[in-house]
Amino acid sequence: MDLAYLRYLGICADEPLADAEELASPDSLASDEVLFESGNLRVPERLSNAFFEVSFALCSVAPPCFDTTVEPVLQGEWRFQILGLDVQAVSDVLSAMEVLKDLSRRDFLAGAALPAMFRAVPPAAVLCRIFALAQVHGFNLVLPGHESSQEFVCCYFDAMCLELGLRPHHFAELYAMSEVLPGVFSLHTESRLVLGSSFLRFQEHYECSNPQFRHCSFQLDDYKVWFRNKSLLGFNFYLQWPGFNVPSWVLDAMRSGKVGFPLRPQEEAVLSTVPPTAQYLIGSCEKDLEVLHHEMAHGLYATNETYRTAVLQQLRRLPPKRTEASKRQLLKMGYVDDIQILEDEMQAYMVEGKMLYEEDELECSTAVEVMAAIHATFRLFSKAAACPSW
Ligand SMILES: [Zn+2]
Repeated sequence: MDLAYLRYLGICADEPLADAEELASPDSLASDEVLFESGNLRVPERLSNAFFEVSFALCSVAPPCFDTTVEPVLQGEWRFQILGLDVQAVSDVLSAMEVLKDLSRRDFLAGAALPAMFRAVPPAAVLCRIFALAQVHGFNLVLPGHESSQEFVCCYFDAMCLELGLRPHHFAELYAMSEVLPGVFSLHTESRLVLGSSFLRFQEHYECSNPQFRHCSFQLDDYKVWFRNKSLLGFNFYLQWPGFNVPSWVLDAMRSGKVGFPLRPQEEAVLSTVPPTAQYLIGSCEKDLEVLHHEMAHGLYATNETYRTAVLQQLRRLPPKRTEASKRQLLKMGYVDDIQILEDEMQAYMVEGKMLYEEDELECSTAVEVMAAIHATFRLFSKAAACPSW
């Protein structure tokens, strides 16, 4: 797991974790009977909010140990359990759920008044926090029908968007669009779920490694079936990638129906937000400059002939062994075996400061020089870049 993802999950919070803990106030729990009380901690048998029904069972008394069942308020089988929680973990689960107490289902995508880590898609952020707690403390997580907590969060997000009947304008409100380089537009949004679900069909029409989807018409459900079968963690696409990049012909393909109608609301929202003159669209969520620069490097590579020529000249200096190793790394990450896409990714990763070494590969001094030269070229060409509106 990378740091950005841990931060997303709430393990490495931008803000002190205490912010969330302070929200826990025993008086404000929507509880029925009290199951357990000790000091400041009061554990109800059940609590509910607009998104979840949670129940606790005491499985041992000394020391106190609890099983928790969480049922999303959503059609279908979504129940999951965390078994063997200690007092601290139960307190953490209560604190996380407390975040949702004043929200209605209309606040599914955004809770403006919440602490930053819960503001974007609050119920999913709460789920991520609870799953992160279970993972960090090694509690037993029982997720029937899902390969991983990441898959659960991604599928829960899709199911809630459907159940709530979310419309394009609900998503458009979450996007900040800015022209970061001439003709290159950046869509920024706070949540990886919103970003990933907005970009999935655009990105995979452009460069999916499966020819059944790349340059083809397909719907999300078919893609999910394929992805689920190839990934150990199931369908975790939305949480996997922090950034996206597509040339304008992909936007045209989506507009004209070549990617397949119907469009999903978030796709319509992207098309209505990006100016028709855009030559390239990038997407990012975390306020992470490395990710933004990686995506901007794709934008420059596609739209600026002089930049592309200079960068390709540098890439040609790499020893063939080094180039092949980088390509193998990219293929392992899931990129399509297309030399143009792979060269574009190599330069974008170098701009981000990543050399794509294989395990046990020795550092290559020419590659270090090439990366420095590509980085300097990027700096030169992006000097006049506009700052995104974070
Ligand atoms: Zn890339």
